[in-house]
Amino acid sequence: MKIIDIRTCRTSVPLKKPFKTALRTVFDATSLIVIITYDQDEKSFGEAVPTTVITGETLESIDYAICEVIKPILLGTSLIHYEQIFSAIDRVLIGNTSAKAAIDMAIYDGLAKQARLPLYQYLGGYRNEIETDFTVSVNRPLEMAEDAMQYVTEGFRTLKIKVGKDDIDTDIQRIKRIREKVGPNIRIRLDANQGWTWKEAIVAIRKMESMNIELVEQPVHKEDIEGLRRVTEATDTLIMADESIFRSDDAIKVLEARSCDLINLKLMKSGGIKEALKINRLAEAYGVKCMVGSMIETKLGITAAAHLAASQPNITRYDFDAPLMLTDDLIEGGIIYEGKDISFPLHHGLGIKGVKGV
Ligand code: MG
Repeated sequence: MKIIDIRTCRTSVPLKKPFKTALRTVFDATSLIVIITYDQDEKSFGEAVPTTVITGETLESIDYAICEVIKPILLGTSLIHYEQIFSAIDRVLIGNTSAKAAIDMAIYDGLAKQARLPLYQYLGGYRNEIETDFTVSVNRPLEMAEDAMQYVTEGFRTLKIKVGKDDIDTDIQRIKRIREKVGPNIRIRLDANQGWTWKEAIVAIRKMESMNIELVEQPVHKEDIEGLRRVTEATDTLIMADESIFRSDDAIKVLEARSCDLINLKLMKSGGIKEALKINRLAEAYGVKCMVGSMIETKLGITAAAHLAASQPNITRYDFDAPLMLTDDLIEGGIIYEGKDISFPLHHGLGIKGVKGV
């Protein structure tokens, strides 16, 4: 299949409830949708979201990177040479991982369509069902306990609790209230989004260990690989690297230093599926399991992430609640949610049929 056109369009959907972390508060899911058209009357889809505080990109920078830098290189190229396509993009564009992710997922969508397989089967097909957690935004402890209980009532069995804002005593209170409210059988994972120093992290995590915490994501600043190692070494709880690892060179540093027990892969950080697969392989070699998560993306980006996640045995955790936080679903086709359970219709590629209003 030969690429004959690439176009982008912007979408925005309000969230049901503001999404709050130690780094930011989000009210709307704003995305750039990419549609690649091929000569054989075929289309493929990708999505990028501007998470400026994490990747440094804006909607405008993503649009520019795709339309002005990547598009001229890709027009007229064939998917048969897809490794050449990825190399050519990396030669002309440094960083810009979300812009690259949108193009990468659209190319993988095209490759799987060409192979006449659902993407997760094209990539390895390890599972055909996965279960997502649900995120509790960082707020006052009692409000968080109420939110947590609501999600448990809706059927979620794993909660991802945002902490790392205010002081560690407040964070300990947050988890205490939530654990009291939801009982002992709900899995609780934390995400501090770089909000603690390594000393604070060790103190806080040790105090919370009696509350049965599954894992803690990114306790310390993303550059503090030594601090991350100290936290991993000094606590019994599993420590997951998120913002510290964008691409495989970051993964090598963190894995070599034995700074984490787990890695959170996100397409918007890695620049897409190709690089996420590479990080996952590195992690697997070090005996480190991966989760796949996302930014605040629509069902399009999450469909690509979920296909990746289902394809690999070393990817064992799934954080795909973002589409469930939106007031409207603009994406026709893709993965199917039944509460916490995600399944994959046997359509070729990502199975995206279209985007409302586009
Ligand atoms: Mg995280």
